[in-house]
Amino acid sequence: MKIGIVGAGMVGASAAYATALLGAAREIVLVDINPALASAQAEDIAHALPFAARGQVSAGNYAALDGAALVIIAAGVGQKPGESRLDLLARNAEVFRAVVDATLTAAPDAVLLIASNPVDVMTGITTRLSGLPATRVIGSGTILDTARFRHLIGEHLGVDPRSIHAYVLGEHGDSEVLGWSSARVGALSLAEAAANMQAPITEAVRAEIDRGVRGAAYRIIEGKGATFFGIGAGLARLVSAIGNDERSVHSVSVLTPEVVGIKEAPVSIPRLIGRDGVVADLMPALDATETDALAASARLMRDLLASVAL
Ligand code: ADP
Repeated sequence: MKIGIVGAGMVGASAAYATALLGAAREIVLVDINPALASAQAEDIAHALPFAARGQVSAGNYAALDGAALVIIAAGVGQKPGESRLDLLARNAEVFRAVVDATLTAAPDAVLLIASNPVDVMTGITTRLSGLPATRVIGSGTILDTARFRHLIGEHLGVDPRSIHAYVLGEHGDSEVLGWSSARVGALSLAEAAANMQAPITEAVRAEIDRGVRGAAYRIIEGKGATFFGIGAGLARLVSAIGNDERSVHSVSVLTPEVVGIKEAPVSIPRLIGRDGVVADLMPALDATETDALAASARLMRDLLASVAL
């Protein structure tokens, strides 16, 4: 599969690097408003290929996206000192107006995978700007939060996180909802598995894991200025799911017609992902507290999207 990545900054380049190492795409084309950056990233990543997998990495302009089955959009502008979140959103919406149009002109059949933050609102904006079916515009959403949730549960139980089936839903951000009540380890409920492993999930453990998931981005940004390896690997995992028409389950953001009674909210729930994007939504059962929290998160995202003039 040929993929494009628009925005060759830390997130875009990490996605390209992880995709290259996984061998998940035959060809990767990097596009950036700064062509020297795109070229340098492409050359550097190309030098990793002899150690890893077959493939081709190059930089180009939008026309070079011709034939891409998937385009990751990781372009964006940073927050200026004193700038409000809404002003930043308005500026990024302007960036996306140009980027989405140029991308679809070059690659009209591509699935769009959005990584720019605030990712849920940017996903909603892209869906509206593009006129594409919502199922073809996927935001990375809570894939990373879900990975962090599984990692911490796995550490507590001493179980490989890949054998833990647990999802974070809602916003990729402060209002996200950890799906404790539907979490499974193998075929056991989390409580059964915890008893089995003699590692009960006490209130204190729960609070610690919740803090760990919710505070991860803040901690990493404090230490190194940005987060990019985790999200890069998550994006590469989605490239693989789409490229191989896997129909595997991932918590990704989509402008959702209705979730827990809230309409037209760009939020994450577990969804089946295949060649054309989202094949189906696989909404887990939630308890009352989780349902209320997801409704609040969805309302927040719906209103934030509505506040952006398109
Ligand atoms: P992140 O950490 O989210 O990757 P960066 O600032 O490292 O943030 O990367 C964002 C990238 O998006 C930069 O390389 C920037 O040049 C690029 N970019 C900004 N605006 C545009 C645009 N209109 N078209 C293409 N790329 C853009």
